[in-house]
Amino acid sequence: MPEPIEKILEHSRFIKSDLVYLLNTGGKERLELFTKAKETKATFVGKKVYFRGLIEYSNYCKKNCYYCGIRAGNSRYVRYRMTDSEVLEAVDYAHANNYASIVIQSGEQTNKAFVNKIESLLKRIHLQTEGKVHVTLSLGEQSRETYQRWFDAGAHRYLLRIEVSNPALYLKLHPNNPGHDYHRRLDSLKTLRNVGYQVGTGVMIGLPFQTIDDLADDLIFFREFDIDMAGMGPYIEHADTPLYQYRDKLLPLKERFDLSLKMVAILRIMMKNINIAATTAMQTIDPQGREKALMVGANVIMPNLTPVKYRQDYLLYENKPCLDEEAEECKSCLEARIHMAGDTIGYGEWGDSGHFLERNP
Ligand code: SAH
Ligand code: SF4
Repeated sequence: MPEPIEKILEHSRFIKSDLVYLLNTGGKERLELFTKAKETKATFVGKKVYFRGLIEYSNYCKKNCYYCGIRAGNSRYVRYRMTDSEVLEAVDYAHANNYASIVIQSGEQTNKAFVNKIESLLKRIHLQTEGKVHVTLSLGEQSRETYQRWFDAGAHRYLLRIEVSNPALYLKLHPNNPGHDYHRRLDSLKTLRNVGYQVGTGVMIGLPFQTIDDLADDLIFFREFDIDMAGMGPYIEHADTPLYQYRDKLLPLKERFDLSLKMVAILRIMMKNINIAATTAMQTIDPQGREKALMVGANVIMPNLTPVKYRQDYLLYENKPCLDEEAEECKSCLEARIHMAGDTIGYGEWGDSGHFLERNP
């Protein structure tokens, strides 16, 4: 007989069977989980939501992850790279609107020109905003030297999802070659930590072949790695990718969404003062998806600042929202929704991970 949920929620450290139980809850127990997560958030991170203006810098990618729409093997999209002035304009927008933080994300590129370009952009962003806008990078696996150069040029945080923490499952979702090696990705996470970044990772939820056991292990992975930030969201199929052939094996979208909410809620209870993002993929399934994530523990939102003309070419998955919304419209609808979720926006604040600050006083 499993323990009643009230007992499990009181455990100071969840064991795997607790996590499996919580991921499987329904009805009244599911709501108890969400209430506990909401209380944990209020106590340990407060009601403030931090904005990270998202700049989808380029859709050139040398990799071929089986799930992703902008994989190198997909010729449907026009490949683009934002110009310097487009990036700096987006940064200006973030600065003028008091977003103290931006995220530069891109397909994976490791050539010299790319590495130099990011370094010079980081320096220009620092100058232009007098160091007031902090930069998070999400540019995939790079050499230690590159991570160090970008850190020295002003980047403070890095997001690199492990995608799935089970190496055997990782192998099913990626080509079997050194460029897509699980251990290489894990080593990159460790290097980022050693260089001094606030490190964020995450997983996709509801992938083909993925089990509840895998998701429980993902949560344990986050705790063991002692992450500072998390970004998790539902896997959403994309017709131009190899994984699409397994679409019949997937959970319905609503269930993938619900599992994602539970992952956010459980992680908030496990790692009380980390930053957790309410991700765009959640909004893709449910128009109020990000607000729902805020209500069960998330505290970061990433409004999209990518110029509209590029958005239809940065489709990692299908039905991505806000393809035709300018940043201004995105902002005002978000503000209203965040207030509806009972939170306020931490304008002008960096919103560093409390967990990171605790480790690095
Ligand atoms: N190239 C970099 C950053 C861009 S991809 C990297 O891979 O780290 C950012 C994230 O998009 C990936 O980490 C992955 O988790 C997510 N993603 C890709 N395809 C997806 C899909 N079909 N459904 C949901 N998320 C997806
Ligand atoms: Fe490239 Fe990232 Fe997509 Fe993989 S997930 S194909 S690395 S953009």
